[in-house]
Amino acid sequence: MPADLHIHTAFSDGTCSPEEIVSLAKEAGLTAIAITDHDTVAGIDRAKQAGRSAGLEIVPGIELTTEDFEAELHILGYFIDRRDPGLLQALMQIQQGREKRIFKICDKLAELGLELDPERVFALAGHRAAGRPHVAKAMIEAGLVKDFKEAFRKYINFRGPAYVSHYKLSPAEAIKLIRAAGGLAVFGHPAVSNCDQALPELISAGLAGIEAYYSGHNSSQTRHYLGLAEKYGLLVTGGSDFHGTGAGREIKLGELALSDELMDKLRNEYLRRNQS
Ligand code: AMP
Ligand code: FE
Ligand code: FE
Ligand code: ZN
Repeated sequence: MPADLHIHTAFSDGTCSPEEIVSLAKEAGLTAIAITDHDTVAGIDRAKQAGRSAGLEIVPGIELTTEDFEAELHILGYFIDRRDPGLLQALMQIQQGREKRIFKICDKLAELGLELDPERVFALAGHRAAGRPHVAKAMIEAGLVKDFKEAFRKYINFRGPAYVSHYKLSPAEAIKLIRAAGGLAVFGHPAVSNCDQALPELISAGLAGIEAYYSGHNSSQTRHYLGLAEKYGLLVTGGSDFHGTGAGREIKLGELALSDELMDKLRNEYLRRNQS
């Protein structure tokens, strides 16, 4: 049965608890899921615990935001050791960067004549390592925009007037962090970044796979990235990028699921690397 390898919880910018995610995954008939929160591993333990009771495999994961080639590239990590000190240290720094970034986004909005209280953004997130979806939510609540789409399109899209970049991590640094934590690094939703020219550099940094199957890819994009996976000898992964309801992206968990065959290939590669 299939696997959904791209899922966010409320520990980053999703709206569901790890336990809710596990029960939705069981309802969807999945046998494995990966928790891939932005810049945090805080949801993994609870997901593992719930997964054990429910008989669902939980792959410990992460999604790291990086910038290169004037684009935002998201690097997914699978089978990471969530207690790896190097990883935890880097995540702490990135999370602090996220907090500072919210203040900067609110400053930029103020320059545009829009008053937004950063504390309200943190309150809606439920934590300090907030993200743009929480900014959008606070903007809607304050009546500054009518929906997520407007918030992103007019203000906080990459290169929008209130966009502030993340703590700068290069794709190669993200890949190295993931590898040092025993994980497999995968280029997430490559069509969203639209930055194929980055692939050779990512591969020389140790990229293991590419997320060809993604809820936001159309069939020709999927084919294109399956072709690049073949060309470069990369593993193929897939996932929905589920964020729950009311997080700005209405996708069902398991809407995009990876076949058993591809899931086995990914797991076997992890096992092979960790045996030698
Ligand atoms: P951040 O990591 O804070 O820069 O926020 C990035 C997150 O914002 C992504 O992972 C998505 O969850 C969300 N996002 C990006 N673009 C959009 C959009 N156009 N509409 C709704 N959500 C978006
Ligand atoms: Fe997100
Ligand atoms: Fe992403
Ligand atoms: Zn994601």
